[in-house]
Amino acid sequence: MGMRWIYLDHSATTPVDPRVVEAMQPYFTEIYGNSASIHRFGRAAARALEESRRTVAEILGCHPTEVVFTGSGTESDNLALRGVAFAQRRAGRGHHLIVSSVEHHAVLNTARQLEEVFGFEVTYLPVDEYGMVDPDEVGRAIRKDTILISVMYANNEVGTIQPIAEIARIARARGIPFHTDAVQAGGMLDLDVNRLGVDLMTLSAHKFYGPKGVGVLYIRQGTPYLPVITGGGHERGRRAGTVNVAGIVGLATALRLAQESRESENARLRRLRDRLIQGILERVPEARLTGHPTERLPHHASFVFRGINGEELLLALDVEGIAASTGSACTSGRPEPSEVLLAMGLPHEWAVGSLRLTLGKSNTEEDIETVLEVLPRAVARLREMQAIEV
Ligand SMILES: *Cc1c(COP(=O)(O)O)cnc(C)c1O
Repeated sequence: MGMRWIYLDHSATTPVDPRVVEAMQPYFTEIYGNSASIHRFGRAAARALEESRRTVAEILGCHPTEVVFTGSGTESDNLALRGVAFAQRRAGRGHHLIVSSVEHHAVLNTARQLEEVFGFEVTYLPVDEYGMVDPDEVGRAIRKDTILISVMYANNEVGTIQPIAEIARIARARGIPFHTDAVQAGGMLDLDVNRLGVDLMTLSAHKFYGPKGVGVLYIRQGTPYLPVITGGGHERGRRAGTVNVAGIVGLATALRLAQESRESENARLRRLRDRLIQGILERVPEARLTGHPTERLPHHASFVFRGINGEELLLALDVEGIAASTGSACTSGRPEPSEVLLAMGLPHEWAVGSLRLTLGKSNTEEDIETVLEVLPRAVARLREMQAIEV
């Protein structure tokens, strides 16, 4: 028997559900028409596209015309920020944006570019020790010329769920469009845009057992928006480019399946996650949970271990057959501590030793027990080696 690999990096990406692959298959080979074509090949593709749009709209509780399909979560974040910022400035409403300081780079670096290259002003909201935004801070940051607020639904690095509905109420009372990056919440948390009160929302299929390279941007009817990708009139002029029908069918199928099993699967993941958190905090000295202790994603466990290098720990775990992450796939490869952990006030010698374990459908109790055996040894060994080096 070979080694059983344990995948604990579902916040980076998930495997595609075989039922999703099956649903996508015909759109590569048989129903290959361009959904913009008039003939029967095109019409068959357009039917699948519009059915997928209705599926997504039903889960979001919105009108199908408010659903825009994009090429990724990153693209949706880019379109939301630039699309609204440029439209608002063009209408003379101002040039001030508010984003949280713990956003994914897709939002953070877009905000920074709007600031540095396009002359917008950005307020980066602070977070508390759990990585949570205080809605009162949002209220205080609003100015007469504020044109967009963007706060993520759940954080990818530390799993904290933000008080989105409260922030949305504050934004709406002041007439300011509110975007949320809901990529980590997709398939796990309530996505009803009216209960949440959001005007724009980003999703990405590969985070909920769908294919990579396909996303959603929900845009509430009447939200100021300037198309960022111009070309043909696809997606009602909001995102040009020949539509990725197979990917979109995959996205809609994956979201529907995730929605159907959401409650039972979340309960199962929560049990495994709590066992993992409790076990690690008991067995590893100088370990801390990062992110909120209760307001966190059901599959998400994240830690810091004082005095170790998170990247070295990942390699040690990989050798033992465990795939994990330091927090954000996009920042791996660099030895600096995560900006998110620093924004939460963690000292440098803790922040460099971060580990994120994110559970998914394939994980079992046995996986958790294996991690609880392997991890304490790995951390102890890294600390010993460091003591020798010094
Ligand atoms: C993964 C992720 C993204 C990027 O989505 P892609 O489809 O991979 O581009 C954006 N925001 C958050 C919170 C994410 O976790």
